[in-house]
Amino acid sequence: MSEVKLEDIVSLAKRRGFIFPGSDVYGGLSGTWDYGPLGVQLKRNIMQLWWKMFVDNRDDMLGVEAAILMNQKVWQASGHVETFTDPLVECANCHNRFRADKIDTSKCPSCGKEGTFGEPRQFNMMFKTHIGPIDDVPQLTKVGGSAEIITPKDDPSLVYLRPETAQGIFTNFKNVVDTSYPDVPFGIAQQGKAFRNEISPRDFVFRSREFEQMEIEYFVHQDKWEEAFEMWVKLIHEWCEALGLPKGSVHELEVPESDRAHYSKRTIDFEFDFPIGREELLGLAYRTDFDLKNIERVSGKSMEYRPKDGSTPFVPHVIEPSFGVERALMAVLTSAYTEDEVNGEKRIYLKLPYNLAPVKVAVCPLAKNNEQLVAKAREIYANLKKEFGSVLWIDSGNIGKNYRKMDEIGVPYIVTVDFDTLEGDTKDTVTVRHRDTTKQDRTQIANLLTALNGA
Ligand code: ATP
Repeated sequence: MSEVKLEDIVSLAKRRGFIFPGSDVYGGLSGTWDYGPLGVQLKRNIMQLWWKMFVDNRDDMLGVEAAILMNQKVWQASGHVETFTDPLVECANCHNRFRADKIDTSKCPSCGKEGTFGEPRQFNMMFKTHIGPIDDVPQLTKVGGSAEIITPKDDPSLVYLRPETAQGIFTNFKNVVDTSYPDVPFGIAQQGKAFRNEISPRDFVFRSREFEQMEIEYFVHQDKWEEAFEMWVKLIHEWCEALGLPKGSVHELEVPESDRAHYSKRTIDFEFDFPIGREELLGLAYRTDFDLKNIERVSGKSMEYRPKDGSTPFVPHVIEPSFGVERALMAVLTSAYTEDEVNGEKRIYLKLPYNLAPVKVAVCPLAKNNEQLVAKAREIYANLKKEFGSVLWIDSGNIGKNYRKMDEIGVPYIVTVDFDTLEGDTKDTVTVRHRDTTKQDRTQIANLLTALNGA
């Protein structure tokens, strides 16, 4: 388990504007979170890094962005309507509900009473909604005082909010093959929202009801699935390293058959030492040809791939690395959260990898009433902003306090423009303070871009 405490991360995230409870002003909505100015930037940096590593930098990957609302047949064919369930138990005393596989059911974790749980019921985690005018929804008929249950078959307007992004990839397999002519093996990548009506959302963003996934379906010939699986194991470790997660904090868990999802023949959960304990960060599964075959069965359309060399057509098998953005973000914050002592005072700082830091540089004029100094600082700020985008201007408060603030949000560099910048031997130089060491260098303004870019 990480030594960092969850409450320290939650508190920093709220204090500095990374993450707020969803619908905060109305008392919140359980399992939902909103990203503030720094959080959205950090989240986007993680997602962009992923896209760069796994799509842009590779020759064998293509991207898609499918609609969140999909035809209900997608979820019937994929098995989600039938089996995307968690076991739910309810305490007969306090009526709180829990996931049976996540608690000791001999004693209620809420009221502490023993023997209050009955047999678990299977609870489907997909959110339902309706498409089109509500008049199209068949009327509920009262049967002995209770409403008759409407099944998807009866209700053509029923749609589910997607519980995974994967199906948007599978349903576009043929479209992508017919328009991009990739050679197998190749992958299709997608990032986007997923929704699960989790029985007990908890542990900050770790288990949310609305979250973001980054998924890849990597299509291979059946005979080649093992080597593709091993390739992805390696790539996933490279990804964890790029996020700045210490090597010893990521663990592979070979999931036994009894615990695997209905579609998987092999799964490795990549677990991370979160402040809440060792838990799943992301998953890697061999989904066989389960999904493409199901699409063939339900849609009646062939999902066969025809090799360009004229060899026998086949339905590809699939290796699926599935990444959760929120869990990646939580792992990044856990790894980056550091406390040390500077000049006898406790300091908190985020040791974020440079490319993930939401703010790259802060520019600080030492005296905000000196026109000449402010003008010089503004000029530097404008140049840096052109280059880095996310640059902060700070001219209020005392310099020590500003350093602390910038450390807490993980700003790698603070450029201070002082009187020495304006005259003497040091004319046209600034100080650059380094977050991790707190050391300061004097740097020529002309060399500033190179100095900061070389980080
Ligand atoms: P768990 O066992 O923790 O419920 P899972 O095995 O159901 O997770 P998958 O279906 O494999 O998760 O989803 C792939 C990834 O999506 C997970 O590894 C995780 O990063 C992310 N994820 C899944 N459910 C949630 C959630 N409720 N909140 C945030 N991220 C999630």
